[in-house]
Amino acid sequence: TNRSNQHHFYMRFEQAILDSKQQQFEISNALYGELENNGFSLNFQPKISLCDGRIRQAEVLLRWNHPTLGSISPALFVPIAERDGQIIRIGFWVLEQALLSLRSFYQQGLEIDWLSVNVSGRQLQDPAFSDQLQHLLTKYQIKPEQIELEVTETYLMEDLQLSNKVLSELHQTGVRISMDDFGTGYSSLAYLTKLPIDEVKLDRSLLTELSSDLQSQGMVRNIIRMAHELGLVVTAEGIETLEQQQLLQMMDCDLIQGYFYSKPLNMQHFVEILKQQPFAGEHSDVN
Ligand code: C2E
Ligand code: MG
Ligand code: MG
Ligand code: MG
Repeated sequence: TNRSNQHHFYMRFEQAILDSKQQQFEISNALYGELENNGFSLNFQPKISLCDGRIRQAEVLLRWNHPTLGSISPALFVPIAERDGQIIRIGFWVLEQALLSLRSFYQQGLEIDWLSVNVSGRQLQDPAFSDQLQHLLTKYQIKPEQIELEVTETYLMEDLQLSNKVLSELHQTGVRISMDDFGTGYSSLAYLTKLPIDEVKLDRSLLTELSSDLQSQGMVRNIIRMAHELGLVVTAEGIETLEQQQLLQMMDCDLIQGYFYSKPLNMQHFVEILKQQPFAGEHSDVN
């Protein structure tokens, strides 16, 4: 009967909540000790310049492989680590590893302008964050402009005044700031003028219809134009097709990132790709 169906529905619903609470609890517990157990690693996803096809930037993406739970997506465990506070320790580790990687790239003579590191709002709210970052930069002799912090639009909009204050302080030290996932929240272009940012990253969801939908093309073209008027670098993320790349090139987008060119790579593969590029100097005679 209808009634027992309803009953079953609620049973399943409650079970799902229990499962997800149980899962969150398990993941939260499993995260403890993983820094010491070497459970984490970093991947690097190249950002390709649309003006010359070169790679001078990459986004750092956290990977977690647990001995019994297996490989778990950051989309699942980062929000849990934000809630239980572990993102502070884990995020610090990510920053330190990113700076170590940069130092290693420079020692190998590789040309990287900057690495982009995702930081969660919880990390930015930590009053010690800026000092810790400065300490790491000094320790590894990395210039602040060689690091970019990717902050999600949703966090920025939660408390515009607070995030403006925190980001302004960071920006003044020379660190680059990127607004990540633009197009998933309020996406008001007016906000771009209010925040101390250097880059806007167009979310994949804005770009999936690009090759089939003229309205979507018009919108993206205008966002790019407006961002450029504000002096921002525009990166398009989640690019999976040649059509998307060509359209974005016509729209003057600066950088693209996505499976079409490359999945996120481990450090060794990323370095191989960089080494396959001719040195920029080899091109300069052409003009
Ligand atoms: P995000 O910062 O927006 O990163 C982009 C995500 O899109 C990455 O997922 C990347 O692997 C994926 N991606 C790249 N190109 C394509 C494509 O062509 N198609 C599709 N479908 N996906 C593509 P990933 O690595 O699973 O990370 C998910 C999210 O987890 C990130 O989204 C970021 O918000 C968060 N995250 C990752 N690493 C860190 C970290 O070190 N710290 C913090 N706080 N968050 C992180
Ligand atoms: Mg990101
Ligand atoms: Mg993003
Ligand atoms: Mg995202």
